[in-house]
Amino acid sequence: MDIVSEELEEIRRSIVAKVCGCELISCHKNLVSFKITKTKYKVLTACIQFPADYPNQPILTEVKSKVFSPSLTNALIEICDKEAKKHIGKKQVILIAKFLSQFINDNPLLPCRDEWTYIKKNFLRECDAEKVKQKKGIIDITAHQELYLLKIRAVIPDNYPEEPVQLSLEEHNFPSPMAYYFICQAKEYARQATEPPLRKSSKAPPFQALPHLKKVMEFLIVNCCKRFPQECCPLCTEQALPENPKDVITDGKDENYIERVYCGHLFHHGCLDKYMKTPPFENGKSCPKCGVRIYHDKWNISPRLAEARWAHKEARQRELDEVVDFLS
Ligand SMILES: [Zn+2]
Ligand SMILES: [Zn+2]
Repeated sequence: MDIVSEELEEIRRSIVAKVCGCELISCHKNLVSFKITKTKYKVLTACIQFPADYPNQPILTEVKSKVFSPSLTNALIEICDKEAKKHIGKKQVILIAKFLSQFINDNPLLPCRDEWTYIKKNFLRECDAEKVKQKKGIIDITAHQELYLLKIRAVIPDNYPEEPVQLSLEEHNFPSPMAYYFICQAKEYARQATEPPLRKSSKAPPFQALPHLKKVMEFLIVNCCKRFPQECCPLCTEQALPENPKDVITDGKDENYIERVYCGHLFHHGCLDKYMKTPPFENGKSCPKCGVRIYHDKWNISPRLAEARWAHKEARQRELDEVVDFLS
């Protein structure tokens, strides 16, 4: 029996037992193919051909996958080729199958590999840092903007994107209510991508979980960390957050305390308070920057009550002015 026929027999007999998650599809001397499944989102098919003077040449492996991107399957083809070269002279098919199975196992980040590449290229700058713990599926990012920093940890679950990435803020120097909003909103994006909406329209196609690492990182890095330290108060047009995070004000009644309103713009408490208490009041008050109505717990009163309070304050001021006039 020649070496290929001998190897084909061995593959038929033992590949399923020897390689975790493997299913043999075909096993002929011109083509061996098998499928490796770890989760619904980690599935690939390998097609292997024996070169003419096998085993003195490496086997030719092609990798296909409906869930991995073409750039990832191409990368897998390359590393399989490298691996096969290490085993020249030996039976290579089961070794390659084991290698592929192990590789998928050891790399929990494979289902978000393209998103991660995009994030590094588009959202991070030189001043930022990232660290990946490949085997644990952990991504650590420290994003900076001026003196502000946001340290984000994302843990990629085994069956991502069906299950959401787990997000946490390891460190930051933004005002705590802002940081709390950042993380809650990011988690909400992850939830929306992985849970069907409560009220489903009957015409909507069945819910399918969507990759969301890129979206949550764009939000946290670009729309929070990079944006807010540069944002100006729409009323006084001065930078809203203090230049030095150490000067962040925690007293909610202080003039310079930062208020984040419904539209997401930042105001100084003092500027916003004056604006909310000055007419006109009909139709409510809207953000001078974007025109969106301002909703805020602290100024949650009807236009009529605001009008009445303002009139009262004005009358009181007139009285005071009269007293001053009388005294002078
Ligand atoms: Zn202001
Ligand atoms: Zn606004």
